[in-house]
Amino acid sequence: MQIQTVYLNGQFMPIEEARIPVLDRGFIFGDGVYEVIPIYSGHPFRLRQHLGRLQNSLDAIKLANPMKLEQWVQLVRRMVKMHPWKDQAVYLQVTRGVAKRDHAFPKGVAPTVFVMSNPMAAPDRKLVSNGVACITATDNRWLRCDIKSTSLLGNVLMRQRAAEAGCIETIMFRDGFLSEASSSNVFVVHGKTISAPPNNHLVLPGTTNDVVMELARKARMPLELREVSEDAVRGADEIWLTSATKEVLAVSRLDGKPVGSGKPGPVFKRMHKLYQDYKRTVMRRG
Ligand code: PMP
Repeated sequence: MQIQTVYLNGQFMPIEEARIPVLDRGFIFGDGVYEVIPIYSGHPFRLRQHLGRLQNSLDAIKLANPMKLEQWVQLVRRMVKMHPWKDQAVYLQVTRGVAKRDHAFPKGVAPTVFVMSNPMAAPDRKLVSNGVACITATDNRWLRCDIKSTSLLGNVLMRQRAAEAGCIETIMFRDGFLSEASSSNVFVVHGKTISAPPNNHLVLPGTTNDVVMELARKARMPLELREVSEDAVRGADEIWLTSATKEVLAVSRLDGKPVGSGKPGPVFKRMHKLYQDYKRTVMRRG
């Protein structure tokens, strides 16, 4: 069996040997941030964007970045080379370190840095061709969903609701408007027009979401960033989920009802192809 090597505070070790003290603030408070970076055929996908978002998350929680950008890049590349899997998902996490339990920030404490890689499978062909089922719920998470925080209880409970309903995701509405899904961003399509909520404190600025918007603009597909009402979601011809590991998936059923024709629509099919072509270009460029 392949030994899974992880990085913890400057050292590489088998995952079974990695230990953190119980007073780590990540464990005690969820006081940390993370990233998940897809690797295709050994090439990190949108690495700079992921590391840029990590910096934004660290800034938002007032935690100094323990490494320079180039050190992160080298560390991710090294982690990838240590594993034979063609496609991988590199997970990295930084917490505020180990200190006596007190909500206020500790002084002079080194952050905990953890990096691991797992094999990553592209979304099942069946999910791509048939679409996926989602449920909906009121977004009851906090008001800093733009921070990629390890405090994910709100998202965990939402994703669990979906799992219990045999669905892939829970799509959330706040004050009658679309925010995002438990671990994905959401797009809707009316006719040929693609719409998505603007990036603000209510959603995570998705790296995949960015790729999709870039591709839509390049292909001159009509794209609107605006508040999307719950009615507009329920009446959409197409609904898409995006995330680094799901790529772009069409939602074919929402709360048990068919979305549009009940099959992935034409705009989705075009975007899915553009996305796969873009991935191939990135892999060739290296
Ligand atoms: N929103 C939430 C709440 C998420 O957890 C994720 C996935 N990490 C996303 C959106 C999509 O982000 P990305 O495309 O960078 O994976």
